[in-house]
Amino acid sequence: MPMSNIASNVAAVRAAIAEAAREAGRRPEEIRLVAVTKGRTVEEIREALAAGITDLGENRVQEAMQKYPAIGKAATWHMIGTLQTNKVKHALQFADLIHSLDRLALAQELEKQASRLGRRVPVLVQVNVSGEATKHGIRPDELFRFLEAIAPLEHLEVQGLMTIAPIATDPEEVRPVFAALRELAEKVRAQGFPRVEMRWLSMGMSGDFVAAIREGANMVRIGTAIFGPRPAKESG
Ligand SMILES: *Cc1c(COP(=O)(O)O)cnc(C)c1O
Repeated sequence: MPMSNIASNVAAVRAAIAEAAREAGRRPEEIRLVAVTKGRTVEEIREALAAGITDLGENRVQEAMQKYPAIGKAATWHMIGTLQTNKVKHALQFADLIHSLDRLALAQELEKQASRLGRRVPVLVQVNVSGEATKHGIRPDELFRFLEAIAPLEHLEVQGLMTIAPIATDPEEVRPVFAALRELAEKVRAQGFPRVEMRWLSMGMSGDFVAAIREGANMVRIGTAIFGPRPAKESG
């Protein structure tokens, strides 16, 4: 049987990840591949899982909640999109890792719901490295203050940083954005904050993951390179 498009795309993405990792003197296994499944059907997700995908990224709570019952714990689920405070309760029903902690009010709501559930919630802090007005995220010069502000929230476990680079025709142009996130993580590590571990650098998408890996990404979020162009209606 010929490989499906999704399976051959996953293989090609994995090969590109491995090559970028080796060039950067790192082991391919260090890079975690999150398949971004917004706008994709359960059928497509199943194909990706059959091709060896283990991690799924969704950017809308409602959409994720619709697919979650069909897939469940067969995958690790990542909430990568902007999270509204009133959706936190639902997000915690499926998300294993939230990449988009970008404001104090959200941290406080996560704390409240996590403490209600009696568990800790792993999160990444989203940083707006590029400073684009349309992008969410903590400003780099406010990251330390933010980490101090959330330090009393005992049910939050910060496991790293996430950023979204500006769209560029040449991904080399946005390498400084990725480098800046890595440097921020190093500073946070050196400073030391309670329950803050700089284990994951979530950066790099279909158009720029090679550049991101060269600059230290160990978690890449890839949609179109695996599933093809998103349906036109999709806006995120
Ligand atoms: C959609 C999305 C991605 C994946 O984008 P592609 O270009 O399709 O790879 C990654 N990260 C976030 C936050 C997204 O919303």
